[in-house]
Amino acid sequence: MAKGNINVAVENIFPLIKKFLYSDHEIFLRELISNATDATLKLKHIANVSDAKVEYGNPQIEVKIDKKKKRLHIIDQGLGMTAEEVKKYINEIAFSGAEEFLDQYKDKAGKAEETGIIGHFGLGFYSAFMVAEKVEILTKSFKENEDAAHWTCDGSTEYTLVKGKKKDRGTEIILHIAEDSTEFLEESRINELLNKYNKFMPIPIKFGTKEATIPLPDDADKDAKPEKKTIDNIINNPNPAWTKQPADLKDEDYKSFYRELYPMQFEEPLFHIHLNVDYPFNLTGILYFPKITNDLNIQKDKIQLYQNQVFVTDNVENIVPEFLTMLRGVIDSPDIPLNISRSYLQADGAVKKIASYITRKVADKLKSLFNDNREDFEKKWDDIKIVIEYGMLSEEKFFEKADAFALYPTVDGKYYTYDELYNKIKANQTDKDDKLVILYASNKDEQHSYIEAAKAKGYEVLLLDSPIISHLIQKLETSKENISFARVDADHIDNLIKKEDTKISKLSDEEKNKLDDLLKEVISSEKFMVQLEPMDSNAAPFIITQPEFMRRMKEMQQTGGGSMFGMNNMPEMYNLVVNTNHELVGQILGTKTKKKQERLINQSLDLARLSQGLLKGEELTNFIKRSYEMIK
Ligand code: ADP
Ligand code: MG
Repeated sequence: MAKGNINVAVENIFPLIKKFLYSDHEIFLRELISNATDATLKLKHIANVSDAKVEYGNPQIEVKIDKKKKRLHIIDQGLGMTAEEVKKYINEIAFSGAEEFLDQYKDKAGKAEETGIIGHFGLGFYSAFMVAEKVEILTKSFKENEDAAHWTCDGSTEYTLVKGKKKDRGTEIILHIAEDSTEFLEESRINELLNKYNKFMPIPIKFGTKEATIPLPDDADKDAKPEKKTIDNIINNPNPAWTKQPADLKDEDYKSFYRELYPMQFEEPLFHIHLNVDYPFNLTGILYFPKITNDLNIQKDKIQLYQNQVFVTDNVENIVPEFLTMLRGVIDSPDIPLNISRSYLQADGAVKKIASYITRKVADKLKSLFNDNREDFEKKWDDIKIVIEYGMLSEEKFFEKADAFALYPTVDGKYYTYDELYNKIKANQTDKDDKLVILYASNKDEQHSYIEAAKAKGYEVLLLDSPIISHLIQKLETSKENISFARVDADHIDNLIKKEDTKISKLSDEEKNKLDDLLKEVISSEKFMVQLEPMDSNAAPFIITQPEFMRRMKEMQQTGGGSMFGMNNMPEMYNLVVNTNHELVGQILGTKTKKKQERLINQSLDLARLSQGLLKGEELTNFIKRSYEMIK
């Protein structure tokens, strides 16, 4: 019997292990199963490359609860350890590793969330002491003629190491679960953890048994009952789709993997992107585009990060570009440093490369989807536009690439790329200053009359309705040359695309002044800026418009990023455009009594407000009353 001190030079780190990361005690299981997996894969490697007589077989890892004795067992059939190796790997290497890890975070004990240490890899074997008061290792090396070893440690720096009785190759870790950690003796809790961390690990993991029904052969007698059998309950899929070659997978395989990842998700993904690089970093994974609604916030935290098929976190901020956190799926990379803080991660060169690789892959995929089947891409546009528009706004590289597939739909359901749109409208929608004006609407119903007025001139009107569109428009205006966007209700159509300098007014200057005075008497200047315009006589007499710049700034402010203009809580701004060439305006001027004039003005103003959806409440009631009076 050997007794010894793990490391005499060191103060007792066990209380620290226990205290530290108290919200994350559960990771001990992931660490121990990772070790069991490593040991099994190492054996596989040895069996493959050396001529040592190693029978690899079909090894599995077993997790077993002994509720009576308050023990949890993790058993593998990997390469095992000799007594010398236990001393070296457990007492020395693993211990100093844990020590180093704790040293780094000692002062932040219990504040793991705040420091944002991703996944907390690094504590390793000794994380067992977060939940156990005593830990035993029973192990037998694959090497011939080596005795089994039995190591015991009760959470002090003292350990015992004796000859063991284990007959078969591999390692069994026995945790004597501490009083305050008995939750880890509950089957449901262990099940939950296995599902969270180990669902896709490469070695089959057995947890108990289950009843399975053996399907009957096709020619079975009709009275035959299917046979029931007790089989191992294997909790993981050791060969998840992302570890396979894209060429070996069909569309259906990707879909069924999606269901495996998100069993509660009934909607199918729109398409997937298989990531696969080995230089200059290793990364595999599958990203899915789900249908994305206009609510940007609720859909994050759906991408899972793995390291060699071990789940690490579903918070991939800083690894995946922000705009892609709306996607779903998995990424797996051994090259993402995991036990470091998020702020460090942000500056890490390898991580930056990974983010830009993912961005490029997504852009390439979108481009090929667009080229291969444009019709289908157009159909999906509404469900994917938010991600693409967000990406164009936040990643310059993506913005450049997106020119090839970003679409600009019209109110008539046509879809143009930017270049197509440009060529289509450049002849007709260029104003007298040679500026191309792109007209858009945000709502077909609310802006119906304005859309019709634009169409009557032969103009194309886009339908741009995503919540971040004002930001994107702003960006397009600065990055494309000599263009501007205008919402159809931003001004009268002749002013939106000015073709000539002046139109002849039917009114004399004197009449204009008279009209101006009259309007100002009746219409509150706080609500509307009155603007007299000589327009076509068949255009509407009164039109309410909302100047593009102010409205857009306001929208940008509401969706973030507006305060940089120093305009908090900007008021709604409306103009009232009065067509001086319209018959009704002449009629207002010619009417004898003041009262009648006022009534005509109010009625016209209300009609204009009605067409902008601005007439509500008491004003609407009064309008309706007045209208009945007039037709009586
Ligand atoms: P790491 O896994 O990062 O090396 P750990 O603290 O988890 O650190 O484990 C330390 C070492 O102990 C391992 O590298 C391995 O040599 C040995 N070890 C731990 N668990 C097992 C096991 N189940 N079978 C064989 N060796 C193991
Ligand atoms: Mg380990």
